[in-house]
Amino acid sequence: MSEINEFNELIQLLKSFPGISQKQAEKICYFMINQKDEFMQDLSEQVAKLRQSLHFCKQCQNVSLTEICSICSNELREQDKLCIVSSSEDLQKIEDTNSYSGLYFVLHDEINVKKNVGLNKDVVKKLMELLKKKKFSEIIFATN
Ligand SMILES: [Zn+2]
Repeated sequence: MSEINEFNELIQLLKSFPGISQKQAEKICYFMINQKDEFMQDLSEQVAKLRQSLHFCKQCQNVSLTEICSICSNELREQDKLCIVSSSEDLQKIEDTNSYSGLYFVLHDEINVKKNVGLNKDVVKKLMELLKKKKFSEIIFATN
């Protein structure tokens, strides 16, 4: 039955979200099935709108609504400190602590020495450009 296939396809899609298990994906799927059309229409429009309006900051690679994000464009932040993080999520966790006021660079990746996995060359190039452009007195690696 095609309904079952479509249901399973949606579950598979939801399972690709970080931290979403099979059971959670099924729960979300049943939740969405029971919603009104307006809710689902609104949800899909909001996701499309978010996707269209979000970019990666040209300086730090964080998600941003503008070319240069609000962190990089904030001159009150300590311009000589750089914190290198694996993801925008990690950046946000550090920001939530209100204990760091320097700049960031988001790798969008992990370095895995054991598996000999390095970083994307474009990311390394952007990081090197930032390191040449700004004079950092302190660089913090907040990665795994
Ligand atoms: Zn930025």
